[in-house]
Amino acid sequence: MKFERSISGFARAKNVIPGGVNSSVRAFKAVGGSPVFMKSGAGATITDIDDNEFIDYVLSWGPLILGHAHPAVVKAIQNAAARGSSFGTPTEAESELAELIVAMVPSVERVRFTSSGTEATMNAIRLARGYTRRERIIKFAGCYHGAADAFLIAAGSSALTLGVPNSPGIPKSTASETIVVPYNDPAALAAAFEQYGNEIAGVIIEPYVGNMGLVLPEDGYLQHVRDLCTQHRAVLIFDEVMTGFRVARGGVQERTGIMPDLTTLGKVIGGGLPVGAFGGRAEIMNYLTPEGPVFHAGTLSGNPLAMAAGIATLKFVRDDNTLYDRLEVLTRLLADGLHEIFSKHGVPHTTAYAGSMFGFFFADEPVRNLEVAMKSDTSLYAKYFHAMLERGVYLAPSQFEAGFVSSAHTTRDVERTLAAADASLSEIRARVGTA
Ligand SMILES: *Cc1c(COP(=O)(O)O)cnc(C)c1O
Repeated sequence: MKFERSISGFARAKNVIPGGVNSSVRAFKAVGGSPVFMKSGAGATITDIDDNEFIDYVLSWGPLILGHAHPAVVKAIQNAAARGSSFGTPTEAESELAELIVAMVPSVERVRFTSSGTEATMNAIRLARGYTRRERIIKFAGCYHGAADAFLIAAGSSALTLGVPNSPGIPKSTASETIVVPYNDPAALAAAFEQYGNEIAGVIIEPYVGNMGLVLPEDGYLQHVRDLCTQHRAVLIFDEVMTGFRVARGGVQERTGIMPDLTTLGKVIGGGLPVGAFGGRAEIMNYLTPEGPVFHAGTLSGNPLAMAAGIATLKFVRDDNTLYDRLEVLTRLLADGLHEIFSKHGVPHTTAYAGSMFGFFFADEPVRNLEVAMKSDTSLYAKYFHAMLERGVYLAPSQFEAGFVSSAHTTRDVERTLAAADASLSEIRARVGTA
């Protein structure tokens, strides 16, 4: 494959955009080489500016559960755009999307829209603090909750990839309000509550972690988190920006039956447009201005185009009764197939999947938290990433990210992907053998 235009495109971008990208992980720092510039997508396939085609497992980092340029979503955006892109007044579309969310996400009775997942988590934390009149929050090492100061402490995703768990620019005073504990470690959370119990406003967690690669909770863990929050009257926030409408319509809370007090959403609910949302019990949500004292605002919050794309997407997932079952069958086919191929090539690994999310680590022990995730072989991942790219499969340019399958992916796409994985590992092994 030739990437000439992408390479010159990146040089051009770097002249005017720091690092050439508008979100850090896009720069391929973790895998080396030059990022690929895309120009179009249709269904499960994306096309770069050199006209190479790829089966896409990044899907804009999660939003595109119906694949690229789904006709219903495109039409909804076109129709909304023709009516005017923004009014700064209430619109009926906001109520419609909110009604869809309230109907499908079990714990959510009221919901507010924002323009990104980051804003959703920022506002959820402010609300938890305002509601409890406490200040400290607990987060888990390797969980990513967007790019706001309070969360960029032992954060996952691009923060991990770039090795800046604590970014300069975050005041020590802000960082000191955030307590970080390891994921899947009941005793560590209990100890944090023991020490700070009546100062803890809230606990924010990715109930299935998608931002250190995919790491699932061990049996009983989420119930333990729920129980400690209830006992200490701390607000439990499930950050379902990635998992909402992704692992099930109602996210992890639907799959596990464990209910948070607040939920943050984003990604799928915007159908590929900039969106976030936070919601929960009416009693807590009514603390927001103008009902209550906790401030929230946004010029483009509830933007008509984003609402239209979200409504089209959520109506589709609401009405397709077998969608999530089909997605999970296909995702399992992929995860099991990768497991077989990695085993065949003698590559130490773990794989995981949930709904239409999957992940794998090149690690030789089960990955249950960040500490173990960090032991994975990132240099093998980098080689594998480029070998797969060359074979027309687009994976996340970092070991520490989940992959996604859409309704547009087919069994044939998965079969081609597995064949590419087999060939990639043969090639990598041959190269090592001759080195
Ligand atoms: C993507 C993500 C965010 C941040 O959302 P943005 O729209 O990128 O600001 C927050 N939390 C989780 C779990 C995410 O996956």
